[in-house]
Amino acid sequence: MLLLLAGCTSIYQGSESGPVPKEWSQTSAAVQPPATNKIPPAVKIIPAPASHANPPPLKTFPPAPILTWTSLDRWAAANKIAGPRRMPDSPVASYAVSSPRGTMILEIGSREATWNGVELHLGFAPEIIDDQLFIHGLDLQKNLEPLLLGKPLAFGANRIIVIDPGHGGGNSGTVSVRDGRMEKEFTLDWARRLKPLLEANGWTVFLTRTNDSYVTNSSRVVFATAHHADLFISLHFNSGAPDKKAGGLETYCFSPTGIPSTVTRGYADPWMEKLSSNDFDAENLQIALKLQGALARATGLEDRGVRHVRYIEVLRGQKCPAVLIEGGYLSNPHEAEKIESAAFRQQLAAAVAGALK
Ligand SMILES: [Zn+2]
Repeated sequence: MLLLLAGCTSIYQGSESGPVPKEWSQTSAAVQPPATNKIPPAVKIIPAPASHANPPPLKTFPPAPILTWTSLDRWAAANKIAGPRRMPDSPVASYAVSSPRGTMILEIGSREATWNGVELHLGFAPEIIDDQLFIHGLDLQKNLEPLLLGKPLAFGANRIIVIDPGHGGGNSGTVSVRDGRMEKEFTLDWARRLKPLLEANGWTVFLTRTNDSYVTNSSRVVFATAHHADLFISLHFNSGAPDKKAGGLETYCFSPTGIPSTVTRGYADPWMEKLSSNDFDAENLQIALKLQGALARATGLEDRGVRHVRYIEVLRGQKCPAVLIEGGYLSNPHEAEKIESAAFRQQLAAAVAGALK
């Protein structure tokens, strides 16, 4: 539970000085498996049983679409890629599905999957129904298709990026468990190191803050739109305080409509909400995985995966692809020592710039 409570404060909705609410995590354990009997073998798509329902949608949102589960074998055949294959040596039932773009590993009964070795979190845990692997239709559409079948990422010649050093001014974020230095200082330094590297790769770069000033989260979103950003990246460091063991890297993007968030931290998760952020679901996921993989390889920190959330304000209402990176835990003495070192922050900057070449 301590691991689930991790996260730097003040980037979320609600009071910036108030306590972080108790997290509620939609893990696979919360999703009941579908009935596995009485499904005619010829049926390609079956309606999700009521037990698959997410938390009830807020009354202000339209009713849920019919949620469907699809055989991955049939989906793969329809899309002219090889069907899923059972991983022979895995302790749990895992399947791999590959295309020329890469390989996704799916685990039965778990929302955790990997794409080319980088962890991502699905909306719904895959299930075995009549000896076949079934995937939720929204996961096919929002997680598998963009990766297995989607076009590779490409940014134009006049590409503009907004880098958002988290926190600032009276909003100092979390603090290092070692020396008490503040997250806002480290995020600004990371952004300053990143700017020239991105410029050398052809990006026009704007920072939402260039000094220790307070900037509201909504102004950061407005700033990105006003600067015609093609990409927005928010930089943060994490905290699991008082736990000192939690560590690793996370990259967040906005939850696709209809998919329950990976974590909610107790905030409402209006999963039928559709915002402009959702126009970039595919790009958000592709960019987040690319960054997460590059950062994990460069730093050797634990890959805690790409996560979908609705509660992070700087990802809400963006008019371009937008992700938020947590570059390690300031509550973990080992990671705090790294984050306090300029060489490590340069490594983080180089990894982000390298992923966006
Ligand atoms: Zn933060």
